[in-house]
Amino acid sequence: MKKVWVKGSVGWHKIHPWIYRKNVKRIDPDLEGGEYCAVYHEKGGFIGSAIYNPKTNIALRFYSRKEEPLEYQTIKLSIERALFYRKRYLPDEDSFRVVFGESDSLPGLVIDKYNKGIVFQIHSLGFERRRGDVIDAITDLFDPEFIVEKSNSHARREEGLERRNEVVFGDPPEELVITQSGFKYIVDVKEGQKTGFYFDQRDNRKKVAQYAQNAEKALDLFSYTGGFTLHLLNRGVKKVYAVDQSERALELLIKNLELNGFDRERVITFEKDVFDFLDEMILANESFDLIVIDPPAFAKGKKGVEGALKGYTILHDRAIRLLKKGGIIATFTCSQVISEEDLMLTLTKASQKLERHFYIMERLGQPVDHPILLGFPQSHYLKGFIVREVIF
Ligand code: SAH
Repeated sequence: MKKVWVKGSVGWHKIHPWIYRKNVKRIDPDLEGGEYCAVYHEKGGFIGSAIYNPKTNIALRFYSRKEEPLEYQTIKLSIERALFYRKRYLPDEDSFRVVFGESDSLPGLVIDKYNKGIVFQIHSLGFERRRGDVIDAITDLFDPEFIVEKSNSHARREEGLERRNEVVFGDPPEELVITQSGFKYIVDVKEGQKTGFYFDQRDNRKKVAQYAQNAEKALDLFSYTGGFTLHLLNRGVKKVYAVDQSERALELLIKNLELNGFDRERVITFEKDVFDFLDEMILANESFDLIVIDPPAFAKGKKGVEGALKGYTILHDRAIRLLKKGGIIATFTCSQVISEEDLMLTLTKASQKLERHFYIMERLGQPVDHPILLGFPQSHYLKGFIVREVIF
């Protein structure tokens, strides 16, 4: 294999799946972008096998700690290994994230199983070059009814790649039904957001529902197709207000109510900007026993952090104003650059200003199909809290 020599902390390089350009010391002169290579430390030790990209800040992405090429067999084996653990820990689910990029030694590759179909995303040059092998491995391992590619991430641009959204194989239904935690959901894999559904909130939806037993009226902010709404209704919440700016998401939310046998009258949908909606609710003197806040990633990179924190502070301020005494707030961030402490601080500031006191009941994170790789904080993006107001 062609070689690359790097500098910097060996210990760090041995577990972190990326090596930045500044740490690349020397490369074999004929190594090209998208090719695999054996990575050695400048002082001699072997570190792993990686894909090289001369055009990005992340110059090397590891896919193995052995010296082996990245080809069909390697890709298939890594997907198989990832699938094995998903099946072991999610035996009752028909749909989940099979491959979560770097955490599964497949840097820049995401594979989601939607019942009998597959949706994948490629965010890196290495897998863009091996797209055919990825599709072959998916076909051989799953024999799926359809394969859809939704390679539309922001990260692709940084890797020098164009977006690509297409049906690779089969004919995915516009309204596919999947089951998660015993609830049925209609998913629009072609037009839906991301790969179609947010599997990552699986455990958190259950946790939030545990705190809803006495709630009469709840608010599901950024509801999408109703993941939290269904869990709240099932727990006995009498009325849920679901808010999202996407018309299609709310259309599917309503269908999901019927599909799961919930009375349509128990939910009011608002196709609106959440910030505007909250101001209107405050003016109307509304109040809620439980409020879920699950916004999209407000910050994509470090530059967006300040603006994002302002957004969370406003959301928390408005939510507390709308919360009944002793109520529950479940709040999330899915921005990798926002830490748990950041999120907590915005909540604390809002509570200080309004002089209301809270207990942290739960700290929430990612489920087993989105594993956080130790030593790779970039894989830890989803954080959340459930807080309950203290009554003195
Ligand atoms: N809670 C959902 C996932 C939320 S994803 C679930 O459990 O499945 C974030 C959602 O926020 C998307 O559906 C998007 O349409 C919506 N959204 C983004 N910005 C918004 C805004 N300013 N106002 C209302 N909805 C917004």
